Amino acid sequence: MVDNSNVKVMLIDDDSFMLKLLTRLLETLGFKSISPHARCRAALDVLATSAAAPDLILLDLNMPDMDGIEFVRHLVDSRYAGSLVLVSGEDERTLQAAGRLVQAHKIELLGHLQKPVSPEALAGLLTTWTRPASSGARAAKDAYVADALRTAIGNGEFINYYQPKVAVASGRVVGVETLVRWQHPVDGLVLPDQFVGIAEATGLIEDLTRVVLHDALEQSRAWRNAGLTLRVAINVSMDNLTSLSFADFVANSTAESGVPPFSIVLEVTESRLLTDLRVPLEVLTRLRLKRFRLSIDDFGTGHSSLAQLRDMPFDELKIDRGFVHGAHGHRTLRAIFESNLNLARQLDMEVVAEGVEDREDWDFLQRARCDLAQGYFIARPMPAAELVGWIESWETRLREESLVRS
Ligand code: C2E
Ligand code: MG
Ligand code: MG
Repeated sequence: MVDNSNVKVMLIDDDSFMLKLLTRLLETLGFKSISPHARCRAALDVLATSAAAPDLILLDLNMPDMDGIEFVRHLVDSRYAGSLVLVSGEDERTLQAAGRLVQAHKIELLGHLQKPVSPEALAGLLTTWTRPASSGARAAKDAYVADALRTAIGNGEFINYYQPKVAVASGRVVGVETLVRWQHPVDGLVLPDQFVGIAEATGLIEDLTRVVLHDALEQSRAWRNAGLTLRVAINVSMDNLTSLSFADFVANSTAESGVPPFSIVLEVTESRLLTDLRVPLEVLTRLRLKRFRLSIDDFGTGHSSLAQLRDMPFDELKIDRGFVHGAHGHRTLRAIFESNLNLARQLDMEVVAEGVEDREDWDFLQRARCDLAQGYFIARPMPAAELVGWIESWETRLREESLVRS
């Protein structure tokens, strides 16, 4: 049996009988460090003050002083790195929605337990569980990745992939989005979700963006020389925009490459809330004055929202894929998609739908008269060398599959 004796477990339930029952069940499974709480606030106080965070929390969704969802929000704020089990008498759909929310917050969800909790169900969840890396270990891993990233930037291990953006009405390939990949000598091709956040947190994002922009400009130049005029988009994180020199850097590199600024699109994502927008606003406004195109990425998620539209001079709005794929058959998604489209129209912005995964999504965009589309249905991100060949095959598909009205 796994040794659970030094695993720290926190129990939160307003029913004192449940607390006793769960404590007893956990003890029979070998857990020794168990702290029961009848109130969320008391549990949060312990989380805030104790040096050792729990490895596992069993949480009752219906608490009198704070509901479970709100509690999860506090866990996120306190950077909880352990696992979570939801305990509730709610119906399956509510539990599932709560579960999705927990996972969206990147907290490891072991599963949920329906009340009354049976010993078998609890044991079933816990036997396959291994303790996640503690926050200390996680910080150490981040630092390790940061070191590796720094070396990798120096060694030129990053490579740009490009994903086409096409006009919905004509099918014409209008541009590409640059998506960086790390060609790791051991792990193979590593996707940006694995390192962009760490690069942002450790100040390496500036160097990474320089490399990505440099290569994208060279590639853009090469395509132009070959007679292919494309808009090339690169992703810019809000952390890039907190440096006043960023506008000059982008403008100078672009001027050196001979590529016109209006064919460069800067896709801005704001994954965390910045309170002081003065510098980003200045950087973006200067870039706009120099005729770069500005795009608000993942619109409708995170902090990519109306307040940004109000404040920043964007030309393009990318509707997040969460509102695109499947929207044709989902009333709520469709309503959100269409209101975003109308909003962009009224602000004279071009709209890109991300995450177009199948023919139904594509047909829906045609009916909605969306401007541009991007997604696996059209093409996956690819190395630059494959683009010309892909354009030929896309033109064939347009005809053979009657993808546009002729
Ligand atoms: P993004 O800018 O929203 O890019 C779109 C992401 O969705 C890409 O993931 C792309 O491969 C993926 N995607 C495209 N079509 C579909 C589809 O039909 N279905 C689904 N499910 N996904 C699709 P990728 O390449 O893993 O990049 C993830 C994110 O990493 C990007 O999201 C962007 O925010 C960030 N990123 C990528 N490159 C850079 C970079 O050079 N700098 C910065 N700061 N961030 C970058
Ligand atoms: Mg993007
Ligand atoms: Mg996006």
